[in-house]
Amino acid sequence: MSEAAPLRPLLSDGRGEMVVAPPGWVAVGQSGRTAVPFSRWLPLPRGSTLMHLPQRQALGRRRGKSEARVITGAHPLPVAAVLPVGYVRLLLPAHLTPASADTLPLYGYTAVADQDGRVMVAAARSDSYRPWTGRRPSGAALEAEVEKLQRALPRNRVVAQLSVCALRHSCLTAQNSFLGRGEGALPTSAACNADCLGCISLQTDSGAPTPQPRMPTAPTADELVEVGDQHLRRCEAAGEAGMVSFGQGCEGEPLLRDQVLRRVTTELRGRHPQATIHINTNGSRPEALRGLVAAGVNSCRISVFSFRQDLFAAYYRPRGYAIEEVLDSARVARAGGAQLTVNLLTFPGVTDTPAELELTVDTLRELEVEQLQLRSLNGDPNWLLSRLPELEPGVGMAELVVELAARLPRLRLGNFTRPVAAGAGAGLC
Ligand code: SF4
Repeated sequence: MSEAAPLRPLLSDGRGEMVVAPPGWVAVGQSGRTAVPFSRWLPLPRGSTLMHLPQRQALGRRRGKSEARVITGAHPLPVAAVLPVGYVRLLLPAHLTPASADTLPLYGYTAVADQDGRVMVAAARSDSYRPWTGRRPSGAALEAEVEKLQRALPRNRVVAQLSVCALRHSCLTAQNSFLGRGEGALPTSAACNADCLGCISLQTDSGAPTPQPRMPTAPTADELVEVGDQHLRRCEAAGEAGMVSFGQGCEGEPLLRDQVLRRVTTELRGRHPQATIHINTNGSRPEALRGLVAAGVNSCRISVFSFRQDLFAAYYRPRGYAIEEVLDSARVARAGGAQLTVNLLTFPGVTDTPAELELTVDTLRELEVEQLQLRSLNGDPNWLLSRLPELEPGVGMAELVVELAARLPRLRLGNFTRPVAAGAGAGLC
């Protein structure tokens, strides 16, 4: 059997030209603050984007040497991939960031390398659920559906917000609300009680641009019911039970609007007994969630960076709550019979440290979480690391997933929320 071709660093001149590092250089990725070899990779998936990291220095390793060093030359900038949905990052791009560098925009930067003329990426498939990974309608067909709903509900601010998200920010959940299929978005809240380092709708101190700016005003219960009802009616006409979700990328925290959302849920549940009424939340207000579950919310996804209080607080910068409230919210969802999913915001070198792995396994088991979503945390890697405590080395993201699957055999691993009673997750493949 012939030996596999070596992985060599990919570099950019910052003006759109990309080259492979000269022979003798070996590609490395980054786990936490440490440069490490690639242990698992796949060809760059369709739908990925390659980008250079401006103002940064690329790292590589000389063949036969163990330590990483800066690669100099006419193409000195590191290159990273941003993965499409359904893939999880295993390594960060290995690079150094000078103190004077601007903070990078919020993407899930992933290590790439060249192998015999093909671009490889340190990633694994995490889900292949067809409603999210299948073909989407053309831009013209989507625009026609957006205009149709705008004409039907001309003063509805949820429609106005979703129009921007669907057309300008390519938000698939917002697009579903116009297409009458799958999980339809119901953005609810302009405010939040956290200040996450990687919040994609509001950045308070990084200087990074936000990919989905926060909705400016909170909609009324009537506006939310109008949009949710038309979505669920169209789903039912197409033979689906239908699904709507509170808590989107363009908003704050829906639990801060629990009084309004109870009215919305009661109304939608009365009209659509089979529907999945879902909430994506930071889990900060268990009593508010209890009221929503009692009103008819039957699916809940809680986002978590870590179950460890100091790491949780360093990332979320929460106001008026702690990890204990988040755990209580999960217990409330389970006690109320709702489907419970945890959305783990993964970061190589943080999520996969031995201590994190143990705590994550124990907590998921205690909470009886049904599905674990593995999402690559977006943000400038070295900027995020500068805000977190120093940690022990990770065991590797792929090893983390193997451990989770082995020790929690009833836990579904995936990337997308299913409607209640729909099939299992795909697992990492
Ligand atoms: S909880 Fe959500 S909305 Fe609030 S700051 Fe964090 S990411 Fe942003």
